[in-house]
Amino acid sequence: MKGSFNLNALLRDNIKKLVPYSSARDEFKGEASVLLDANENAFGSPYREDFHRYPDPLQHRVKEKLSKIKGVPAANIFLGNGSDEAIDLLYRAFCTPGKDNVILVPPTYGMYEVSANINDVAYRKVNLTPDYQLDLDGIAEAIDSQTKLIFICSPNNPTGNSLNRTDIETILVNFDGLVVVDEAYINFSKQPSFTKDLSEFPNLVILQTLSKAWGLAALRLGMAFASEEIITVFNKIKPPYNINQATQNIVLEALDNVDQVNSWIQEIVAEREKLSATLADIAQVAHITPSDANFILVKLEEPRALYNFLVSKGIIVRDRSKVELCEGCLRLTVGTPAENEELVSAVYTFYGATNN
Ligand SMILES: *Cc1c(COP(=O)(O)O)cnc(C)c1O
Repeated sequence: MKGSFNLNALLRDNIKKLVPYSSARDEFKGEASVLLDANENAFGSPYREDFHRYPDPLQHRVKEKLSKIKGVPAANIFLGNGSDEAIDLLYRAFCTPGKDNVILVPPTYGMYEVSANINDVAYRKVNLTPDYQLDLDGIAEAIDSQTKLIFICSPNNPTGNSLNRTDIETILVNFDGLVVVDEAYINFSKQPSFTKDLSEFPNLVILQTLSKAWGLAALRLGMAFASEEIITVFNKIKPPYNINQATQNIVLEALDNVDQVNSWIQEIVAEREKLSATLADIAQVAHITPSDANFILVKLEEPRALYNFLVSKGIIVRDRSKVELCEGCLRLTVGTPAENEELVSAVYTFYGATNN
């Protein structure tokens, strides 16, 4: 640990040497009336909207709009086919298979591990503490000269709590690799985003997504915020047209509805607190982790049997009861008021019928 950050030293050799694919839209960017450079069908699309031209590879218009909403310059934004694409690109840019390693801090989002396995990159797990915070000593011990990335999810999935900001800052200051802070649930949190601190930490990568609070999971649009230097690396290795035109068009319109999203967020947070309070009154509910997200992790009796009972009622929740440090827990997404009432009433029925 401790040294000075040098992005070039972190990059894989093959990526340093890479000559990126240069698409037709990279080579000619101006206005023209006759486009005969990309082997498209000049007649049009067999559809009511035109999709016959390749999309903007760097999604300038979407980034301009996001820049205003997020307060982050467009040059510091990467857009991916879901934030899962950014996670994969981080491995591919910085981790040499069979040589480098990353640090994961479970229980956390499963894609960091799956993506490591897909890329044949080793990972070292340093469990969160029993109150779901970072084990700084454990992380310091696990880091070696081949450690390239640390993934930190805050608010954390599946626990729902935010990780202490000062702990994350300690890692940012002392670790020479990249610190990836996944803020998929930041819109529901009382904690401020790390986006304001990008200029302070050259090794910070923030992930956000339109899949959760923004209600656009099906469009697949994830964001990474980082230094221009890091964004340049992502752009160099991403598939040339990774965000399709339909997604770009729809997102541009949807981003005008910030007020609608903010009012949903308020409602979801209120419903989250109400659902937590109601479930906490049930004798068989042992613990609910205070949540900064749009879900709650609930420790309760007979989790698997309750899960199956809920399925039989057509209510699907996430069974995390076999996950280390989440033993006995189900993860419940906050739904509409009607859905939450249906859930609560089914939970009452289950325990009433089996225990009381
Ligand atoms: C849902 C989720 C994402 C996934 O985002 P996509 O943009 O839909 O790929 C990323 N990180 C965490 C922690 C999530 O829970």
